[in-house]
Amino acid sequence: MEVLIEEILGYGLVVIIIAITVIIYLRKNKKDSKKTQEKVDIAKEEGLFEPVSLHPFINLDTCIGSGACISDCPEKDILGIVDGKATVIQASNCVGHGACFHACPVEAISLRIGTETRGVDLPHVNQSFETNMKGVYIAGELGGMGLIKNSVEQGEQAVENIYKNKKEAKEGVLDLVIVGAGPAGISASLNSKKLGLKSVTLEQDTLGGTVYTYPRNKLVMTAPMHLPLYGKVKLYDTNKDELLDLWNKVITENDLEIHEKTKVEEIIPQKDETFKVITNTGNTYIANHVLLAIGRRGSPRKLSIPGEMMSKVAYRLLEPERIKDQRILVVGGGDSAIEAALQLKDQNKVSLSYRKDKFARLKPRNRESILDADKDGSVELILNSNVKAIDEKVVSVEVEGERRSLENDLVYIFIGGELPTNFLQKAGVEITKRFAYIVKKHD
Ligand SMILES: Cc1cc2nc3c(=O)[nH]c(=O)nc-3n(C[C@H](O)[C@H](O)[C@H](O)COP(=O)(O)OP(=O)(O)OC[C@H]3O[C@@H](n4cnc5c(N)ncnc54)[C@H](O)[C@@H]3O)c2cc1C
Repeated sequence: MEVLIEEILGYGLVVIIIAITVIIYLRKNKKDSKKTQEKVDIAKEEGLFEPVSLHPFINLDTCIGSGACISDCPEKDILGIVDGKATVIQASNCVGHGACFHACPVEAISLRIGTETRGVDLPHVNQSFETNMKGVYIAGELGGMGLIKNSVEQGEQAVENIYKNKKEAKEGVLDLVIVGAGPAGISASLNSKKLGLKSVTLEQDTLGGTVYTYPRNKLVMTAPMHLPLYGKVKLYDTNKDELLDLWNKVITENDLEIHEKTKVEEIIPQKDETFKVITNTGNTYIANHVLLAIGRRGSPRKLSIPGEMMSKVAYRLLEPERIKDQRILVVGGGDSAIEAALQLKDQNKVSLSYRKDKFARLKPRNRESILDADKDGSVELILNSNVKAIDEKVVSVEVEGERRSLENDLVYIFIGGELPTNFLQKAGVEITKRFAYIVKKHD
């Protein structure tokens, strides 16, 4: 009898322990779900919930809530779990590593561009990467396929196809102009050299494309890839310097012609089936083929005022922590301008010029912080103002009809960008708005 009671007590204890564990587990899940849902609500309020480019889409029917996607995503708060299923939180901050896609044990994630309600303009490209304009090709993120490895591979393959369709280039005519020197453009340029094509690469900014703009300490995730004239690049988790050093080394060793600070403004198809490529430096190129490897970030919009070409003027802020004791003018009234001013204010004297009388459509946190900074004097807000000229040591700003001269060392301009759409349409490339376009799914 005693043995039986002991046994019952023993089983009872086990049941109680299991029940307590389950309750703790369920409570924790509920608490975590609540926290994640709060983050989703904040992301919606701040306009971060809707994706801007490549992002994970979760099939709720197959998701088992393993959390593998969350632990493998190197960014913060892109994904979370609510009620046992994955959900996106700040989809607009997703940079498209695709780590979640690979991590999901039940293949419940696909990578998409655009949503059911918000379409994204994508150019028409066939299997050979050629657009509807015969002779104009597209590689890399512009065609809808993000990530470094994909862009590198597409750059190489596109040039392979161009080589197959190569025709005799007349005197003064190039085989190929490559526009953009990001991962796709670099790989295309190397393959063009390898195949002996007469080509030139034109880059509006700096070699490396989007990779060049990553923060220095960012973890760059990629997978082994083939780089023409180099071979297999065995990199997984790396940083931007390692990638840029490698690209620079191969480019120098192979004596590649890449013109930086050269923006292609127009591509005009000619009657003889060549293309006239017009740049902002005044140089014009004629080529049988053009490869557009210009990504999806577009070109920064300019103020078009005297002095804007000076080297102290920039359209992006790469390492704010390294900028100290400068008199800085930030121009613009969007989140990028506000975030730049806030990042710079503690170590510098910062003014912010915005042409309107108040800010519209800012993330609530940014609005609050910039108004606080104005109040405590750490940023001088100059509303209703237009920058008129930039000089070596001053900038001239018109405020409500009156000119003001500000002492100045650096100018950061964030007044939006020109999307590649117009540029492509001018070149005759057809574009279609795609909704929830699936870039990668498990077959
Ligand atoms: C913050 C961030 C983090 C990321 N992290 C990763 C990561 O860890 N791993 C990964 O695989 N991917 C990552 N990505 C995505 C990856 O950077 C891109 O998919 C990749 O750079 C696309 O390569 P691309 O050559 O197609 O275009 P881009 O790299 O965008 O290069 C396009 C180039 O074309 C130039 N250009 C544009 N217009 C013109 C013009 N008219 N004339 C001349 N030049 C022009 C641009 O200046 C630019 O240099 C990240 C993206 C971001 C924004």
